[in-house]
Amino acid sequence: MNEKAYELGAKRSEIRELYEYGVKRKAEIGEKNVFDFSLGNPAAPAPEEVKEEIIKLLGRDPVAVHGYTSAAGDITVRRAIADYINGKFAAEEKAELIYLTCGAAAALSAAIGGILKRGEEIIVFAPFFPEYKVFIENAGGSVKIVPCGKDFIPDAEILRKEITENTRAAIINSPNNPTGAVIPEKRLKEIAAVLKEKSEEYSSPVYLIADEPYRDVVYDGVSVPFPTKYYDDTIVCYSFSKSLSLPGERIGYAIVGSKCRDAEKVFLSLAGSARAQGYVCAPALFQKIIPALLGKTADISVYKENRDILLNGLKETGYEVVKPDGAFYLFVKALEKDAKAFSEMAKKYELLVVPSDSFGVEGYVRIATCVSRETAVNSLSAFRKLYGDYKNERT
Ligand code: PLP
Repeated sequence: MNEKAYELGAKRSEIRELYEYGVKRKAEIGEKNVFDFSLGNPAAPAPEEVKEEIIKLLGRDPVAVHGYTSAAGDITVRRAIADYINGKFAAEEKAELIYLTCGAAAALSAAIGGILKRGEEIIVFAPFFPEYKVFIENAGGSVKIVPCGKDFIPDAEILRKEITENTRAAIINSPNNPTGAVIPEKRLKEIAAVLKEKSEEYSSPVYLIADEPYRDVVYDGVSVPFPTKYYDDTIVCYSFSKSLSLPGERIGYAIVGSKCRDAEKVFLSLAGSARAQGYVCAPALFQKIIPALLGKTADISVYKENRDILLNGLKETGYEVVKPDGAFYLFVKALEKDAKAFSEMAKKYELLVVPSDSFGVEGYVRIATCVSRETAVNSLSAFRKLYGDYKNERT
């Protein structure tokens, strides 16, 4: 067998490991007594319109509804997405350069496989979503981990020092998993300027891959700048998993920016990469509900409420927390250098928090705030006890 594939299949991610531990623990001591912050599984129900659209579609000719669409997806759906994006962001994207995918994961994997040549590297900014490594290595490339600035946002000057002739792309993720940080327009412009400068220097494009499954999960009026407007050689990877709470249905898309050089060729390479990975024709029923749902989201106010409960409660206790502008995670400084040891200690109070080592940085833990309000509120006394333990140890 393929050893690399075996390793990927056999080795559970640390996040999954923690989740499975939580399932076992809940069976032992009761669901309410375990504060499981491990998984980013949306807790808000999908909007009612999702159900209504599905019911409408199920009343139509089943052969047409459930049949194959073109590999890239139904063209009317792709047109609806292009119109929506162009209307909302004053962009100029083309339906013909949109590929519907099984979520952001397939969009990323198709995009990476489409542009990366064997032996080249892709820059990821730490902390980063661990699956990037899997997709990049599967495409025969290597990951170059570049730290963010102190504010957990990618920094153009750090990027400039790390980019080489062997860099084919940089992946940004805004709002970010695991920090919730949103890249503001100024930073995006600075990053774009470095990518442009380096692409010219090397006479070969260094692509920007914008991983955006949390684009519509933002708080306090924060908005996420649309990246193709700032950098031509951009591929946007979007997903309805988080915005519409449909992660199990596997629907999203990749957009090759219309101003990308050789855009059609890039699109066909992405399509070829998707084909080679078996990603043709995203789930047809879920493709077809999309036009009616563009611009709608699940009720994300529950995540904001949880964010505020946990952010304020943890800060009052004495924890250092990065304030997230989007997504549904809190990045909290561990109370000892070793985040894995801290995560183990937290289990004493039934708190399940993910050590940051999985995301390429040390000394933090991720708390997923897509939990019930009750879990968020009741966990605070456990976090206080955990803090007390560390304080007492040191005094
Ligand atoms: N990118 C990031 C940053 C994520 O957090 C996730 C899922 O959690 C994905 C991509 C994959 O999303 P999808 O479920 O749409 O494949």
